[in-house]
This record gives sequence, structure tokens and C-alpha cells, in this order.
Amino acid sequence: MFETSITGSLPKPAWLAETHKLWPQWAAQGDALLQAKADATLLWIKAQEDAGLDIVCDGEQSRQHFVHGFLEQVEGIDFEHKVKMGIRDNRYDAMVPQVVSELRLKGRVHAFEAQLARAHTKKKLKFTLPGPMTIVDTVADRFYGDKAKMAFAFAELLNQEALALQADGVDIIQFDEPAFNVYMKDVADWGVKALERAAQGLSCKTVVHICYGYGIQANTDWKSTLGDEWRQYETVFPALAQSSIDQVSLECMHSRVPLELLRLLEGKDVLVGVIDVATDVIETPEEVADAIGQALQFVPKERLFPCTNCGMAPMSREVAQRKLRALAEGTKLAKARLASN
Ligand code: ZN
Repeated sequence: MFETSITGSLPKPAWLAETHKLWPQWAAQGDALLQAKADATLLWIKAQEDAGLDIVCDGEQSRQHFVHGFLEQVEGIDFEHKVKMGIRDNRYDAMVPQVVSELRLKGRVHAFEAQLARAHTKKKLKFTLPGPMTIVDTVADRFYGDKAKMAFAFAELLNQEALALQADGVDIIQFDEPAFNVYMKDVADWGVKALERAAQGLSCKTVVHICYGYGIQANTDWKSTLGDEWRQYETVFPALAQSSIDQVSLECMHSRVPLELLRLLEGKDVLVGVIDVATDVIETPEEVADAIGQALQFVPKERLFPCTNCGMAPMSREVAQRKLRALAEGTKLAKARLASN
């Protein structure tokens, strides 16, 4: 009960890449970079185990960014000529590569870090991939001319990599779809279908992570425009409840999401965000246990998985490490409270 995990990304050590950045420059090159990625991956696996988490991730130490890390291994994408594009419905600008021809995988994308992680932990291993809709929203299209069509093209590639990751021994594959909170109509029209295509044939657990984004200023500003109640999930959850995806990961701590919306996910496991990634303040065990307790009103205990709100890539190592412990300690307290009831 209450198996804990993080959403996916963790801060990169300064010897691996620039810190506190969403698109950091690597600090090394060639074999030295590969070694640094491996070292950072093992460091974070150990830190997650030491904190007492039940499910561990590679911390996305081998990819520059959660979307572009995948795209770098896709043929048909021009990384040499990036263009500035407003992403997440123009919430912020990013320099994005361009799709210029038919898409194809160059080969395996994440074999190195997935196999490394698998070889060094006996815990359940979760691996994250960007979802098709979020990829489409983080790349410039100069070829397909149709978002849904391009999303399905990416979904096929994601599916190839996901099946290979499963064969590597990954227990849980998560697709990150922050765009689901932005283009709610598209989610119902083709977003969930593209996601299901990406997960087709997987027998391991599948997760979709939907959040209000990393704890960066642009996202914090956007949230302040969303009003007293954030009801984006209300239009997305019913479609997800009917989908073949097993688990839904979402943002709850310090968010204005009305928790009764969790009822719309009946039949799904729910990864409840009980750690805020938009603040360096460390949650107390009581706060985490309270958040779990509130979610328990709407999610059966056997379906509730305490998690972070989102990835921790832009934070400091020290803060992220302490937040891992807060997650584990708060969950322990929640279990104790439940047992004494
Ligand atoms: Zn997120």
C-alpha cells in the first residue's frame, strides 16, 4: 500500500550539466559525458533508495530535457536549426527543433540508462517518456501539417522504445503529458488515442503524468491566472478513465485542483502529488500525510500512490534530496495514521 515514487526528473549535478535550468548545457563531452551521466544515474538511484522510496527512476540524468532527450534519437528532425516557438498555448517561449521529413528512430533511445538502472537496483523501476501530444507541442512542424497525424507518428516511435524498455526490465512506463492540461479538446479528440497507441502491447504498468508544469516562473504566473478552482482535469479525466492506461499521475500539493475530481478516475491507480516542486520549502511529514489523507476521501487506499507534483530537474540537489525524504516520511506517517484508525 502507498508505494512511493517521484514523477521522473531530478536535478543534474554541476559536473554533469548546468544547474537550475530546464535546457542545461552538458558539462562534458564524448566518453566523459557518458561516464558522468552514468555516475549521476547511480547516485540518484542510491539517493531514492536511501530516502526509502519504493519505486525508483533514472532521474532523467541522461537527457537534456524530458522531450528533446527523446527527439535527439529521431530521424527527420533538424536539431541544427532550432526556432523560437511559444509552447503550452504560448505560455512560454522555447527554442525547438523542426520536423522536416518522415519520422523514424535512429535506434534505441534510452537503452544505456535503462539497462544501467536495472542492473543496479532491485526496486521497481519506473521509466518516463514524453507523451505524443506534449512532443507535438514542443517541436516545430515543417512536414506533417496536422497535429494529430504527427502525434500518431511520434506515438509509433514511442511505442517501439517503450516495448524495448519493457524488455530491458523496466516495471512501469510513464508518459508525460503536461499538454493535456492545456489543449483539453484535443485530448478528447485524439490525445488519449495517441497515448494509447504509444502504450500499445505493453504488459508492464503504464502511467500518464499530467501536471501544471515544472516549478518555473512562467508556470507559476500561468497558475495565478487559472482562478480559485483549477478544473482542467475535469475534462481530461473521463477520457482517461475509459482508456487502457493503468495509472494517472497528477499535481495536488498546494494546487487548487478540487480533490473531488479524483472521483472521475474510478478504476485507475492514482499517483497523487503530495510534494510541491515549485517551492524550496520542505514539506513536513504531517503535511504530506494530511495531503494523502485528503486524497483518500476520493481514491481507495489500494489505488493511491504518493508522488511528487512534477519533476524536480530545475531544483537544487539538496532540496530535491530532502523532498525525497519528506515524501517517504510523510507516507510512513499516513500509513501509521491509517493503521491506528
Ligand atoms: Zn509534470
